[in-house]
Amino acid sequence: MAEALVSAAVSTPSVAAPAPLPVRAVLPWAFFVGLLALIALYFVGAEQGATSVFAGTDVHEWVHDGRHLLGFPCH
Ligand SMILES: [Zn+2]
Repeated sequence: MAEALVSAAVSTPSVAAPAPLPVRAVLPWAFFVGLLALIALYFVGAEQGATSVFAGTDVHEWVHDGRHLLGFPCH
């Protein structure tokens, strides 16, 4: 009985090693997500007034809460 307890305490569970992450496979997705993030940042931060791509205030109104959340000057 005592030997069973000692052997259970000494044995270590096998831990699987994490799979290697191939940079070449991740790099295009990282670039794509970064591009989407920059586009979203543009629409939240600069789509207003003289720098606006779309006329009117529709885009500004859609991202208005995001502007205040990220600290862009608004009104
Ligand atoms: Zn505002």
